[in-house]
Amino acid sequence: MTHAGRSVSILGVTGSIGESTIQVIEELRAQGADVPVEAVTAGQNLKVLVEACRRLKPRFAAVSDPTQLAAAREALAGLPVEVGAGPSALEEAGARPSDWVMSAIVGAAGLAPTMAAVRRGALVALANKECLVCAGPLFIEAARAHGATLLPVDSEHNAIFQVLTHPERVEKLTLTASGGPFRTATREAMARATPDEACKHPRWSMGRKISVDSATLMNKGLELIEASYLFGFPSEKIDILIHPESTVHSFVHYVDGSVLAQLASPDMRVPISYTLAWPDRAAVSAGRLDLAKVGALNFESPDLSRFPALDLCRNALQRNAAATTALSAANEVAVDAFLESRIGFLDICRIVEEAMTVLEEGDAGLIAKSPSSFAEVVAVDQAARAAAQRIAANLAAA
Ligand code: NAD
Ligand code: MG
Repeated sequence: MTHAGRSVSILGVTGSIGESTIQVIEELRAQGADVPVEAVTAGQNLKVLVEACRRLKPRFAAVSDPTQLAAAREALAGLPVEVGAGPSALEEAGARPSDWVMSAIVGAAGLAPTMAAVRRGALVALANKECLVCAGPLFIEAARAHGATLLPVDSEHNAIFQVLTHPERVEKLTLTASGGPFRTATREAMARATPDEACKHPRWSMGRKISVDSATLMNKGLELIEASYLFGFPSEKIDILIHPESTVHSFVHYVDGSVLAQLASPDMRVPISYTLAWPDRAAVSAGRLDLAKVGALNFESPDLSRFPALDLCRNALQRNAAATTALSAANEVAVDAFLESRIGFLDICRIVEEAMTVLEEGDAGLIAKSPSSFAEVVAVDQAARAAAQRIAANLAAA
């Protein structure tokens, strides 16, 4: 089936990926395509949710905070949309019948609603990398068991997906990284960096959490884990390469020496439309690549000493799936603390590293083996958050 007539739901409609997804749908509708919208979800921002509902005309809208139900009902009163609030409403949004679900809630908060879509065998466009990093092999296994199709939206993974013609003949993958706003900054400058400086990404305009992750290169480390779980390659077969122009979105190296890549201007509407139209392609006007204007494409190795997040992620991936669950949870806590100016920029990786040590040495041996159930995933996630909170509070008090 092509995108014509495909019904959709958008988890995280009020975010940056949510907005790009709305724009793709609006463009397809303007071309005459019928794109019925089943459900949308939002975190806090009711104003943006109302606007999204005006544009998309969904049947169901959910907000994450259960105490916001009355306010959401009132805000959406003029529109023909059912309204829900709280965790069960977010899950209902994923569970309602739609052909395609955009998973674009940020963080592990996206896991339960995305799993609701996975369990009914939907086409799941996966922007939220944290839910894959959090639940790892269990998430992949659930998709297989329920016949869900995972379509990667993250630009690097979308690029690999597009050129992964012979998965069994792959020598290695190379994930490209822009290098973020501190690619050439000194450690001293990084130590003083403010949240606004860290969020000023040179190539992409994104939500604040992923922007900070791009500045620490934690984003690339999470993407290393994401690629390993999604495509089934071990850490040793996945390289990371800094590419400041963000034009080549990743490479697949084959055993015969051929290297395939996907290129596009850095505009998320390109991978989003790819997943919506898959296996067809849709005509969208976004992101035309002008290589004469780009001029030169540069590549360099990442500086592992200024960006310790890369080794933290590689080590966690090599350890087991509990370690990747814990790492992502600790990072969410650390990024929040940095965005609220409670800790410095360099403290983010320090907190993640210390939290991993606490869990490794802790009495319950929580990250001694991969979780065998989603309940175990949640237990590891919560323990890592608690450890990271304690470490962040100590750093803030020092
Ligand atoms: P964003 O912060 O702009 O939007 C996040 C969305 O999630 C919003 O709709 C917000 O209301 C909702 N949300 C936040 N906390 C929530 C909670 N606790 N419960 C329910 N909903 C909640 O983020 P974004 O940049 O759109 O990124 C979304 C996801 O896509 C992230 O996982 C990110 O890593 C991934 N991603 C984003 C980009 C990009 O270019 N923005 C690229 C690749 C991958
Ligand atoms: Mg990416």
